[in-house]
Parts: sequence; structure tokens; C-alpha cells
Amino acid sequence: MIMNIEELSEFARKKGFFWTSSEIYGGFTGFYDYGVNGTLLKRKFEHIWRKYFLNLNDNFYEIEPSDIMPEKVFIASGHITNFVDPVAKCRKCGTQHRADHILEDFLKRNFEGITAEELTKLIKDNRIVCPKCKGELADVKPLVMMFPLAVGAEGDIKAYLRPETAQGAYVNFLRHFNILRSKLPLGLAVIGKAYRNEISPRNLTTRMREFTQAELQIFFDPNKLDEHERWNEVKNYKVILYPVSQRGKKTITLSCEEVVKKLKLPKFYVWHLAKVQQFYLEILKIPETKFRFKELSEDERAFYNKIHWDIELELESLGGFKEVGGVHYRGDYDLSGHEKISKESHKIFFDNKKFIAHVLELSFGVDRNIYALIELFYRKEKDRAVLGLPANLAPFQLAVFPLVNKGNLDKLAKDVYETLKKDFDAVYDDSGSIGKRYYREDERGTFFAITVDYDTLKTDDVTVRFRDTTKQIRVKIKELNKTLMQLVSSN
Ligand code: ATP
Repeated sequence: MIMNIEELSEFARKKGFFWTSSEIYGGFTGFYDYGVNGTLLKRKFEHIWRKYFLNLNDNFYEIEPSDIMPEKVFIASGHITNFVDPVAKCRKCGTQHRADHILEDFLKRNFEGITAEELTKLIKDNRIVCPKCKGELADVKPLVMMFPLAVGAEGDIKAYLRPETAQGAYVNFLRHFNILRSKLPLGLAVIGKAYRNEISPRNLTTRMREFTQAELQIFFDPNKLDEHERWNEVKNYKVILYPVSQRGKKTITLSCEEVVKKLKLPKFYVWHLAKVQQFYLEILKIPETKFRFKELSEDERAFYNKIHWDIELELESLGGFKEVGGVHYRGDYDLSGHEKISKESHKIFFDNKKFIAHVLELSFGVDRNIYALIELFYRKEKDRAVLGLPANLAPFQLAVFPLVNKGNLDKLAKDVYETLKKDFDAVYDDSGSIGKRYYREDERGTFFAITVDYDTLKTDDVTVRFRDTTKQIRVKIKELNKTLMQLVSSN
């Protein structure tokens, strides 16, 4: 059974995943605090992401640029002029609404990339009123979505909280190209906060004002766009696609070789599409039917993106497929922009040529992915609820219980726990019936429950219960670490 958004919100709050920030002051719209289980899940997602994507190439690295950047960066990136949302203000109650979102709710279509004038006309033609008070809506106006900051004692240094992690990689490209022995492709990954003054934050952690992105900027030689040295690894691998030509119809599945031939996408791009899909299907274990790449039309994508496919997951609580990331071929837009404004040449010398590197961006919203993981892995069974996350994503991998709190069982269970804690994310629980303890752990995804019982005192073995099947096996205490390690890595 799938949770609806209210149930997911309740689950996330009550089970320690996430909830609106500053809750005791009534909550702060668009901002979320992660609790104990949510933080562990998020860190694990980030860790897995880091391990997987940095491993795609020996020349991919993680960096940690600043969250706050001076205005010039965003003049160069085009955010000051282009990073705007269409806003329709209610003439009666003053509430500001995302014009494209109210139209989307009303007409059940996507209105991304449509001009303010067109949106105004659509609102008028469809007689759409303020969803809050039914008042008349004013003409749609663009609003800059970045949070401005006044830095310094006089507050005279103009800066912004970054609206995406990407700029931190772009402004650091030249230095890294030199430090890392002038090789391409060069990948700079950033996992960190991004800030956007969203007009209507909604749908829990899928549209927030402060959120985490995991982005990998791959700088490469544009002359090598139609090749990848490890092309053979993916050429027969099938990717799930929803091209513009299929809108309103079904997804299609094509081998990477066919994608290159039929859709005329470059090999360098398609290789990375395949790797992104493998991350979702093989590492996160997302069911195939819930995953697709959606092509954005020229109107829908940012003007600097030459090729743009969103990564989408089907989230029934949000009414269908939703974007959780994107694969963007941005050309030389970013580095040329920074060259112009910083007045520092961004041309590099590589392979006997002087040129500006092109960028392929793999961009992921961590919080949207966390939301998706909870929805996709949560299930209700007859008498229990299970968050069936893969073992390496589960907030806790194991829980240790003494069957009862007496007869030395608790002391022995504590010893087992102390040993396992060194290698696993483990919890100890000795309160309530054993059945209740199992169910509590199942619901937050704990992969194994280890029970120390009276037999343990005689035979030196414990019960290991598997979350998904509830099957139980007996394992000798001295073999526990090794056995559990093997089980975790094979799940
Ligand atoms: P949307 O169209 O949904 O506003 P976007 O296309 O502007 O998203 P990008 O700028 O490409 O998003 O950002 C990359 C990723 O960051 C998105 O795919 C999404 O997962 C995440 N993201 C963007 N905005 C938000 C937000 N307000 N809250 C949570 N995650 C976000």
C-alpha cells in the first residue's frame, strides 16, 4: 500500500526522519529538519552517491566550495537576470503564488518555460483566482529566486546564498585543472546546500527553500563529445526513455547504441545516462517501472542546455513521475560566462589545442531522492509496516535485543551490541515485548534484529532475524561480524 503525502509526512515526523524546521515556533515554511533516522538515511545516500559517481573516472574528485558567493559570480552565471520565477499576486489577500504551479494544479499540464505574458493570459482565459481567498490575481511578474545577503560591517558587499552547488565547481575549475595535472575529463563534485526563495514551497522535502544537492560537473574536450573510452561497457545496456516525441504515450527502452543512432545523442552523454540509470536500478534498487529519463523540449529547458533529460521517479503520492535530478549538457556557457566577468582567460591547453572546456552536469536533489526512497520502499503488511530499504541505505543496519532483561541476558546482549557497534550502525533496545521491538525496527528499515535468549547462554549463538522475510537463523557470536558483513554487502 502506497502512502499518500499526509501519511508520508506523518511517518517522517513520528519516526524521526524529517519535519518542518523550528517546529516549536509553529514551523518555518520551506525549511526542514532531519531527525535521527532521516539524517542517517541522507548521509548514507550521499556516501553511496559519492562512492559511485567519483568512481566513474580516476579524475573525478569532491570539493567543498563556499555556500555564499559574491554578486559577480551570479552576474556571470546569468542567475541575476534569468533565475526568476513567475509570480501572480492576489489583489485581495496579497499572497504570492507561482503562476505556473496554479495553472498546473488547475489544468493538469506542465507550464515550465512559458513567459509571464502567456501565463497572465492563461490565468485570465481560464478565470483562475487565488487558491487561498478566491480573490483576483494580478499580472504575472518575474521574481529573483536567490536569497540576497549584505556582507560585512557596513553591509555593502553584495552576495547571495548559492542557488545551486554548480557555481562552486565552475569558479574552481582553472585551479583544479592545474593542480590535477591538466587532464580532461575532469570531474568536480559538490554535495552541499543550495538555497532558493521558492514562492510556494510544497510537497515536503521535494520543494524546499534550503535543500541539498549532489552535483558532478564533468569538464571535457568538446571534440570528444562523440566518444567515450569505455563505450563498450554500456553499448548494449538498455536505457528507459521518455523522449519529447513520446509525450502522452509510453516510455521506450533502447540500447545505448540505438540511442546514439536513433535519437542522435552523443556517446559521451549517453554513457553517463547509462551510469545514472545503473545507479538508480542497481545501487539504490529502484524498480525499473518507477524510473525514466524525460527529455525536455527546447522551450522547457534552460537556453544554455544543449541536451537536457530529467531523471524521474514515479511517486504516486505526488501524482506520477517527478524530477529528482537531471543530466545537462551545458556546453561552454558556464566557463565562458566566468571568463567574461572575471576577465581571467578560461581557455586551457589540452591535446595540442586551446579551448574552453565543455560541461556535462549530473545533478541530483538529495532531499527529493530521500522522499522518493521513503515512498518507494515503504510497505504495509498484514500486521506490520516495513521500510524495505537496501541494507546500505537503512538508517540502522541492525538492532540488538535481550529477550528479557534478566538472567544475564541483558549483560550478554550489551556485549554483543558493543562489539557490533564498531562495524555497523547498531541500536540496542530492551523495552517492550520482542514482537513490538521487531515492528519498531522494521518500520524504520533496520535490516537485522539480533536477539540474545536463554539458549545463547548454553550454545553461544544468537537469533538473527531478517527484516524483509522475518526469517530467522542462528549464528555463533564469534561469527556474527563476518556473517553480517557478508549479508549486508550482498543486499
Ligand atoms: P524544478 O523544475 O522542480 O524547480 P529545477 O529544474 O529548477 O527543479 P535544477 O536546478 O535542475 O532543478 O536542480 C537540480 C535538482 O535539485 C532537481 O532535480 C531537484 O532534485 C533539486 N531541487 C531543485 N529545486 C529544489 C527545491 N526547491 N527543493 C528540493 N529540491 C530541489
